[in-house]
Amino acid sequence: MTIPRMFVTKYDDIVLRDECDCACAVILCNDVIPLMENSVLQSNKDVTRIQFPRNWQGLYLPDGTNSLVLLNQPAYDLWKSFQEKRYLSALGGEKLKIAQDMVKMGLLVSPDAQSVVLKKTQNTQLSAWLHLTDRCNLRCAYCYLPHKSEDMTLKTGRATIEATFREARDNSYEQVKLKYSGGESLLQFSLIVGLHKYAQKLAKKHSLKLDGVVLSNGTLLTEKIIAKMQGLDLRLMISLDGVGDWHDVQRPYASGRGSFADVAESVDLALAHGLIPDTSITVSGRNAEGLSEIIDWVLARDLPFSLNFYRQNDLSIPHEDLKLEEDKIIAGMLSAFEVIEHNLPSRSLLASLTDRANLSAPHLRTCSVGDSYLVFNQHGQVSKCQMKMDSPIADINTENLLQVVRDDKSGIQNISVEDKEECRDCDWKYFCTGGCSLESYRATGRYDVKSPNCNIYKAILPEVLRLEGLRLLKEAGELEVA
Ligand code: SF4
Ligand code: SF4
Repeated sequence: MTIPRMFVTKYDDIVLRDECDCACAVILCNDVIPLMENSVLQSNKDVTRIQFPRNWQGLYLPDGTNSLVLLNQPAYDLWKSFQEKRYLSALGGEKLKIAQDMVKMGLLVSPDAQSVVLKKTQNTQLSAWLHLTDRCNLRCAYCYLPHKSEDMTLKTGRATIEATFREARDNSYEQVKLKYSGGESLLQFSLIVGLHKYAQKLAKKHSLKLDGVVLSNGTLLTEKIIAKMQGLDLRLMISLDGVGDWHDVQRPYASGRGSFADVAESVDLALAHGLIPDTSITVSGRNAEGLSEIIDWVLARDLPFSLNFYRQNDLSIPHEDLKLEEDKIIAGMLSAFEVIEHNLPSRSLLASLTDRANLSAPHLRTCSVGDSYLVFNQHGQVSKCQMKMDSPIADINTENLLQVVRDDKSGIQNISVEDKEECRDCDWKYFCTGGCSLESYRATGRYDVKSPNCNIYKAILPEVLRLEGLRLLKEAGELEVA
């Protein structure tokens, strides 16, 4: 008799480590019912079944701790046996262990509770965006910056780091994440080095963990910079929107020349020296048809990547062709997914394929804006989101900075998905959370509504689950690879 087996994505680190150009979300966890021998359980009726090869069954849990659970036939039969209420004490051995895991994931629930109860967790990481310079050598079509010739000074930079650590300590965070950004951050690389050394000192002093990532356009990377970054334990995220012209039409130099060749060279240089860059791919109407090519390119190099949707801003309005036309974007994304299906990576895909939606863990808000995120501009002024640096609400000298950010009612409001019209009854709500609040506001003048990209999300989210299921089976040796 085959023993029951169950697979889920190990997500311990996904939410915090997966890199993107925004603030990370705060996860929720299952308020697990205490298990006693006389616990009565029932299968969660809210799941959706997805059929996988070799009789593996995938279960999507809209309110589970894991979005997708894969079960072999005996495990599926065991789960189904709970359609009628059953006592846990009726089980023993491997079946009991699997049933207990099913409770933790939300597949089995108490009949009184009817469904899983998710509870809020405290975000353990405070993230800060440091806008080191407004200057850039590129002129990307969707850039929201005015490109003033203004840099952050070492004095201001140190003050931003002091403020971040002060807030982290006073608000009981365990980790500080610094995003060194711009403009082109590598134009200020010596500042990054100085600031990160200072951050390491403060992290040690306050016994806080530190994560540092350099967000770059990838045109200025050198062997020396790579070695220095590795010495400082800094990670690298490079923006790369396509292969050849697909990238160049969105990310040219100020002179108009395309930047792909230089970025590709930098990526390969980094890889040759053992620095694996995260790649952020901005999807727009202009490059959607080239998505399958860039996915092929990053998979061939085994690069971590994320697909992020273009967000319109005041400066990008004239570029009409960047707009996210639903049919075109869905077709481009699905053709990219086909490429992934034939070259499934070892990393989870749950957090990286659907813009700001994140299927790796349930959460209430799309990002940590207004909660655990500070954005410092080059003058040390503080905003809630990097796309709103033109409307600061505080500065490095503000007392109780994080509380001021949390209490601010003037600008962007990061609404819980449970308070967004049309989202609160959606099956994807805890994983999609209604998209970027700024994007919703730009489209409708309201924060408490669903994303303007809702139809795109709904079309591709099931495909993301299917790909992740196939990936898990491949990793477990349960999938025949052609
Ligand atoms: S934006 Fe659409 S897919 Fe996302 S939670 Fe809201 S209704 Fe659901
Ligand atoms: S509000 Fe939107 S743009 Fe700003 S950090 Fe959140 S998801 Fe990103």
